Amino acid sequence: MVFCCRQCGTCCMYLGDYIVIEQQTAPFVFACESVSTGTPFTAEVDEDKREIFLDHTFPDQHPHACRFLRPYGSLLRCTIHRDSPAQCKYYRCVAMKVADSRGIPLGRVTGALALHADDPALRTLWEEVERKRPKSDTEAEPWIAAFLRDKGYQVE
Ligand code: SF4
Ligand code: SF4
Repeated sequence: MVFCCRQCGTCCMYLGDYIVIEQQTAPFVFACESVSTGTPFTAEVDEDKREIFLDHTFPDQHPHACRFLRPYGSLLRCTIHRDSPAQCKYYRCVAMKVADSRGIPLGRVTGALALHADDPALRTLWEEVERKRPKSDTEAEPWIAAFLRDKGYQVE
């Protein structure tokens, strides 16, 4: 499937421990670290989001959310969209949707190739996926889709 981010911000709600502000170096510029990869980066708040960034109500109410996340109308927006780290830019919350043979949705596979599903049979089958899948994510993604289809699941 072609992934289209709806900019709902849900994936950023618990990333406060992973996207860390080390120091403020100018009014809207921050020295940061992407903790999962140990990568330092500099982030300047997007000019058109500075007003919403200055309102700290949301981060105060959501201490686990990324410090750069802010509500914007009915959406949650990244206020450093231009300077956000690579793993944010390429993150996909849905790489595949998985349904049973009748088309009843069972769950999804994220861009990091993690299964998000409660269905016990699919979760058991996923253990086999984890054991047998190619190591490279690029090769694994089409392999997993073919594997699940072969087992009778619908994958899109
Ligand atoms: S990647 Fe998914 S969860 Fe994150 S903002 Fe986009 S649609 Fe929402
Ligand atoms: S830097 Fe932006 S995209 Fe990345 S977690 Fe924070 S709010 Fe989300």
